[in-house]
Amino acid sequence: MCAAGLYGGSYVNGRYVVDGEVKRGITKRLKQKFYANYAPSEQRRSRSSKLLGTKVHRQLYHKYTCKEACSCVAMFGSKTRLAKGKFVRAFELFLVEKRLEVVGCEVVVSDGEFATGIDVLCVDAAGLYCPVEIKCGDWPHLQVARTVDGTKTMTTLPVPNSHANQHQLQLWFNVHCLRKRGVLVGSCYVVYLQSNGHFRAHPGASWWLGERGKVVEEIFQRE
Ligand SMILES: [Zn+2]
Repeated sequence: MCAAGLYGGSYVNGRYVVDGEVKRGITKRLKQKFYANYAPSEQRRSRSSKLLGTKVHRQLYHKYTCKEACSCVAMFGSKTRLAKGKFVRAFELFLVEKRLEVVGCEVVVSDGEFATGIDVLCVDAAGLYCPVEIKCGDWPHLQVARTVDGTKTMTTLPVPNSHANQHQLQLWFNVHCLRKRGVLVGSCYVVYLQSNGHFRAHPGASWWLGERGKVVEEIFQRE
């Protein structure tokens, strides 16, 4: 079964459609709610790593979801160039280490108001779901907190305002949407794929997993 179909969502012509309704993407909302005070680093680097990220996401999509027929043209507007890819290899190593199987890529989910595409949705050996956020490239400043106001923390959470923690909020939203759909989530990761063929897998952070997630949810829902 198609995973995207399981959760009722699709991404067509740059728009998320879930249960027949257009939903807003989550990225801007997370920024507005949690880390509007972030001080971006050098432009050039972030642009090139974004391009690389897009390429690797497509390669993973093609590898894991285009088994019988390729849907890349419908999904992205052009064919996906095959990877020689150390990044894809790094992802395979991650799957083996965590004993996960891929169920779908770019799986569109929503909390009712906002939507996102889960980069890769997996299932573990116990049959529980595991959403995975994919990040590419070697980013030396991943853990560095930088804000325009000198606090180095997010505006509404006592958490360092770093790219790594912004990625954690994306992961939180993935889990939040799945749980709203009644999907049993056993684990979740932000996986950093590196050009040397290695990976680093960061599980959901302690500041939002479990009971503490309620604080994040409360801030997110607040008007
Ligand atoms: Zn394809």
